[in-house]
Amino acid sequence: MRTTVGIIGGGPAGLLLARLLDRAGIESVVLEHRDRAYVEQRQRAGILEQGTMDALRACGAGERMDREGLVHHGIELRFDRRGHRIDFPSLTGGRGVMVYAQTEVVKDLVALRLAEGGPLLFEAEAVAVEGTETGEPLIRFRHEGREETLSCEVVIGCDGFHGIARQGIPRSVRRTYERVYPYGWLGILADVPPSCEELIYAHSPRGFALHSMRTPEISRLYLQVPSDTDPDDWPDERIWDELDARFAVDGDWELRRGPITQKSVTPMRSWVTEPMRHGRLFLAGDAAHIVPPTGAKGLNLAIADVCVLARALEHWRSTGSEDLLDAYSDTCLRRVWRAEHFSYFMTTALHTDPGQSAFDGKLQLAQLHRIADSTAAATELAENYTGIPLG
Ligand SMILES: Cc1cc2nc3c(=O)[nH]c(=O)nc-3n(C[C@H](O)[C@H](O)[C@H](O)COP(=O)(O)OP(=O)(O)OC[C@H]3O[C@@H](n4cnc5c(N)ncnc54)[C@H](O)[C@@H]3O)c2cc1C
Repeated sequence: MRTTVGIIGGGPAGLLLARLLDRAGIESVVLEHRDRAYVEQRQRAGILEQGTMDALRACGAGERMDREGLVHHGIELRFDRRGHRIDFPSLTGGRGVMVYAQTEVVKDLVALRLAEGGPLLFEAEAVAVEGTETGEPLIRFRHEGREETLSCEVVIGCDGFHGIARQGIPRSVRRTYERVYPYGWLGILADVPPSCEELIYAHSPRGFALHSMRTPEISRLYLQVPSDTDPDDWPDERIWDELDARFAVDGDWELRRGPITQKSVTPMRSWVTEPMRHGRLFLAGDAAHIVPPTGAKGLNLAIADVCVLARALEHWRSTGSEDLLDAYSDTCLRRVWRAEHFSYFMTTALHTDPGQSAFDGKLQLAQLHRIADSTAAATELAENYTGIPLG
């Protein structure tokens, strides 16, 4: 097989890149290890920044999002038994976010690719990337029991944190930066209308909790737990009781309970690999960087990477100039490190570290009060949360 752009991974990054290339008339093939049902049902992110919404709309993938997504104009920070609303539009010149699950973004992009685009092969596992320092890199992959080769002009690794693409960058060139947190999130999906109109980020002496939602009928909630937690140790009643305790607030707010339909534990990690390009191999999304989910940045960073990359590939195909491809890694890493910092800030301000002292806890509260009381501090949070414009 031969194509112009070989894309490893059919998550949000790979699928949006394929869509952008389809629209630009650039040939591509997407290789996805899992089957279609698996990638469409994998529960992950749910908050789209303004720039992500704009990017999906601009490539014709925003129709269902605009119909079914929930536009949010703020979040609540809850601490010391009180809620403090951060109003995004007034702090950011009108920006907001959209609650629309990653599963739905993936379904929309898969449907568009299959209806209007180039090949998207499910159950196609890339096993190696070779020749990235030549003009003819290739991807070796397994599909339908056969060993196959895809020859490309460029290879894009959109294969997530556990992917193989980045091994195409020699170890002598690759640098990795990492921080692992001593806690994770126990996340649940529950068939119950959300108990709030906007997300609640709760700091409590018992640990962090987040109230999010998927639809007006489905709630998504998270509890900070030790990273080695077995979800089976958390029967439903225990989860609801703990959520109740962490969201406790003065006044008559009540947490609605309902049947829990999914339960899983996600570890928390900050991780960046540099550079994001080597020869004819480019990395995008979780293949190059991971953030803890507290700032809702993972999916949005993946989308931002491929928007920058699609523009650079289009420029290269139409002019022959590699200027934008050469700038790709530096351009993305600037945004990536901003998001890494914000995600680290949100995580460490809101979670209780097992080793933290009473003094550390007081500093966290001082920081949260500052955000609640100061327009400057709230603006800093709002600008980062709604996302730095793509430019
Ligand atoms: C459990 C979990 C919960 C999360 N929750 C949140 C959240 O609440 N908020 C938030 O903002 N972010 C969250 N994230 C992060 C967010 O989901 C990711 O940042 C986002 O999925 C990145 O998209 P991506 O396309 O780069 O990678 P992925 O979505 O990981 O997609 C990579 C794709 O590559 C495929 N693949 C891997 N290896 C190969 C191979 N060898 N050959 C072919 N295909 C391959 C995989 O099957 C996958 O489909 C979460 C992540 C996880 C893991």
